[in-house]
Amino acid sequence: MRVGSRGFVAAFGDMLLRRQTLIRRAQWVIISAYVLLLAVPLLLPLPRSGDFIWNNLSRFAQFAFWGIWWPFVVLATALVGRFWCGLLCPEGALSEFASERGAGRAIPSWMKWSGWPVVSFIATTVYGQLTSIYQYPKPAALLLGGSTFAAMIVGARYGKSKRVWCRFLCPVSGVFGLVSKIAPFHFQVDPETWRRSATTDAPAVNCAPLVPIKTMRGASACHMCGRCSGHRGAIRLAWRKPAMDIVYGSGRMATSWETILIVPVLLGVVPAALHWSNSAIFQALRQWLVELCVGAHWIWPLSLRLPWWVLTNYPSVNDVMTVVDGLCLLALIVVGCFSATILFIGPLAASSLLLRGRLAIVHHLAQALIPLSAASLFAGLLSLTITQLHADGIVLPHSDQARAVVVLMSALWSLRMFFGITGIYNKAIGRRIAATALICIPITLFCIAWIRAFSS
Ligand code: SF4
Repeated sequence: MRVGSRGFVAAFGDMLLRRQTLIRRAQWVIISAYVLLLAVPLLLPLPRSGDFIWNNLSRFAQFAFWGIWWPFVVLATALVGRFWCGLLCPEGALSEFASERGAGRAIPSWMKWSGWPVVSFIATTVYGQLTSIYQYPKPAALLLGGSTFAAMIVGARYGKSKRVWCRFLCPVSGVFGLVSKIAPFHFQVDPETWRRSATTDAPAVNCAPLVPIKTMRGASACHMCGRCSGHRGAIRLAWRKPAMDIVYGSGRMATSWETILIVPVLLGVVPAALHWSNSAIFQALRQWLVELCVGAHWIWPLSLRLPWWVLTNYPSVNDVMTVVDGLCLLALIVVGCFSATILFIGPLAASSLLLRGRLAIVHHLAQALIPLSAASLFAGLLSLTITQLHADGIVLPHSDQARAVVVLMSALWSLRMFFGITGIYNKAIGRRIAATALICIPITLFCIAWIRAFSS
């Protein structure tokens, strides 16, 4: 990378610092659009077959949230880091707004539990599927609006001008933190310049997501807001090799919660949750349970209608989920979770033993699966975009093939990264190749299964 390009990247970081007022105004524009798209569809009748994205606000909101926002924020995080979180996210902006005027209490220790991002991501993913959040405005308003309301309450109670919600509780912060590790940009801290500037009277930086700026490593926790750009002359926005953070940086400090988020959740729960309706396992399980209920004369699991906020219940458009459907969906998600765990954890553990003689590096090795898990999440979410456009008569040519290429390229990148990590722990090329061959097996099986699932 040429010096001029580096200068341009750093200048962009400085520009963010100078334009904080403009960024704040842009956040209010996004907040207004967000509230409008969440609230107005609640007042409108459900879309009918003649309603399209371009002539029906409910359909437009559905497409904006799930066809554009969700998949492309994941993509943007992988390509440029968490700029969405720091600059544009309405939930983060509202939480910080509340915190500026709030009680400023100390953050309770229970809130700092590292498992919240994993638990809340699983809970919102599963609940969203049970209530068909991608199709209907009421569950979207409940889940997104409820999350935003909770973010504001947390902001109003804890921290001063901080984003405590984003740092500890946001359901997608764990996923964005992982995906941002492959981004080619980060705010880089130069420890030597920081030390030399110790006597400088630099004004304090308000890092809203509570990143320990001085010791910051990697881009995972940083929301790329730009407020620390140029601080003490030691921090600047910089380009980096996308694999560096995982192989040599924060990947070495990986935790078990990150491994849980990568393997059973992103490679297990998410594919099952996004493609349950097309799953042969789901259909077979449902058929078996229906026959069981009929045989035992249990009619209520097949006929009981639960409220829309428990299970999908829209009889006017012929879309009702029975208790049997809900149970089968939950069972499929559990199957997905266990399948991914069994598939990946064995080879990861065996590789760790092969390279170090103990299990100590399993979590670092699992970080190599971040490109694959990020790509499979993006490819899965893109099916929401494709399905919604298809319903309106817009067919994106070769979209399945393009998604398959993305997944396969990311799989190769994961393998390359895995091989790079093995070199840190063992110099014997034979062992490194053997360990990489071990992880190649589950990666290949996952790619085959996932590509077949979203192409079916
Ligand atoms: S470290 Fe904090 S202040 Fe600096 S860019 Fe990241 S989020 Fe903003």
